[in-house]
Amino acid sequence: MTDDLKAYIREVPDFPKPGINFYDITTLLKDSVGLRRTMTAFVEHFGDQQVDQVIGIESRGFMFAPILAMELGAGFVPVRKPGKLPAEVVSQTYDLEYGTDTVEMHADAIGSGTRVLIVDDVIATGGTAAATARLVEQQEGELVGFAFVVELAFLKGRERLAPHRVDSLIVY
Ligand code: AMP
Repeated sequence: MTDDLKAYIREVPDFPKPGINFYDITTLLKDSVGLRRTMTAFVEHFGDQQVDQVIGIESRGFMFAPILAMELGAGFVPVRKPGKLPAEVVSQTYDLEYGTDTVEMHADAIGSGTRVLIVDDVIATGGTAAATARLVEQQEGELVGFAFVVELAFLKGRERLAPHRVDSLIVY
């Protein structure tokens, strides 16, 4: 399954800057079979987990999370960059190689005990996903795990997300 799906990912060297190899999921999304296989695989992984809310991380997590939410019979919650959400928010700031970044979620999006799955296209260092997990914990949600289409295993992002469950479909 994993090697099958790898064929749908386009690798773009030196984007968005020299030295970065970009893993482009638009080539998977535009293919009806690639998209269906991706969603079917995620449902096989998490279909028995009674997920209440699927969180998508801005912006490419938004391309997968609402579809998966529908398939799992769950709702969708966006986690966004600062200043985008209109109502009261909770936020978490995390370190980048140079500087910091922040993620925000509506304060009423996740209730206590809500079962939450976090989705993004790619896990690189895991910093964004770890900050998103802290948002869920801050709201006393129950984190079922993380679902990624692509994992860059050499960056060891999954170690930052321990002890939570991390499932990825395609590993580099
Ligand atoms: P992370 O380092 O795990 O916090 O990555 C932050 C975000 O950047 C993730 O949501 C990915 O969508 C994106 N990202 C990081 N590295 C790559 C890459 N090489 N190709 C595509 N997306 C990437």
